[in-house]
Amino acid sequence: MNGPTATIDLSAYRRNLARLAERVAPAALMAVVKADAYGHGLLPVARAAVAAGVAWIGTLDIETGLELRENGIPRDVAVFTWLLGPNEDYGRAIEAELDFGVSTLSQLEAIARASVSGRARVHLKIDTGLHRNGASIEDWPGLVTRSLALSDRIELVGIWTHIAEASDGDDTVAIERFRSAIAVAERLGASVTVRHLAASAAAFGRADSRFDLVRIGAFSYGISPGGGVSPSSLRLEPVMTLTAPVIAKEEGLATLGIGYGDGIPSSAVGTVQVSIDGARFEVVSVQLDRLTVDTGDSPIQLGDTAVLFGSGTAAEPTLQEWADQLGTIGEEIVTRLSPRIRRRFLE
Ligand SMILES: *Cc1c(COP(=O)(O)O)cnc(C)c1O
Repeated sequence: MNGPTATIDLSAYRRNLARLAERVAPAALMAVVKADAYGHGLLPVARAAVAAGVAWIGTLDIETGLELRENGIPRDVAVFTWLLGPNEDYGRAIEAELDFGVSTLSQLEAIARASVSGRARVHLKIDTGLHRNGASIEDWPGLVTRSLALSDRIELVGIWTHIAEASDGDDTVAIERFRSAIAVAERLGASVTVRHLAASAAAFGRADSRFDLVRIGAFSYGISPGGGVSPSSLRLEPVMTLTAPVIAKEEGLATLGIGYGDGIPSSAVGTVQVSIDGARFEVVSVQLDRLTVDTGDSPIQLGDTAVLFGSGTAAEPTLQEWADQLGTIGEEIVTRLSPRIRRRFLE
């Protein structure tokens, strides 16, 4: 009997990327694959992004960036990393031609010291109000000046920031601060071609946030980043379908082989439904490795496959429906699915 399975429709993912790229053009698209590609499986997803013609991949950390290079993600695809710890081995990362999102002088100096094999590609980060890394406005001119002075070791590729995407007013302020930071850098002599600020929500909520490049995670998987434009209104398709087998059957109840140890929240009880053979059933209990649904007098059989969430085209719940009913966002549900759940990839 098959165990719990997340089926990843890579053709849906590629179609999503193509639609997103078309919408944000002339800005370029970065496919964000952090957190094991939002639980979808890093390497197959990154390869599909390359096949879809994406020229930028965002990984968060250097380790994941190196994994991509070691597994054949070609050098003409830029791999952006921005979670830089105090003891990074920048030498390997520079050799692998990763791009770095740099917030501090000490990161910049460490990269310059390690940069013996070539010029390291750097994107300087300005904090525009989110306070999640980024140089302060006071430190900004110093950071820009120093990276220009290190031009034999550092190639200043980009300027970037991250914004909250929570309120339009705050985002307007952040975009203004971003523009002034770019102007300051240009006055200091920088000529930067890749300016980037927006993730999924802002990139579609407002065109003035797109600049040269947008960093898209949630939408590429057909997931709503929480509020704002919905993925379906952009004709984006859910990429993941989560299924589990019926492993036991008794009077009015069916037990599925998936539980909270696999990442199914226990708050699923009484809130979400699953579908079996096109009919919907309520979850009545969640245990470590199993969950029980109320099947009434439906003819459910041992070995049937239950769909927890999917595209919604066969009457099954969607991830969005789960997220709404569980009071969370889709990203949280998919990134918590355990590695024990088999990922099955449809080309
Ligand atoms: C996660 C992340 C993104 C992608 O965000 P989504 O809302 O999932 O599109 C973009 N930029 C940065 C810096 C991120 O950490």
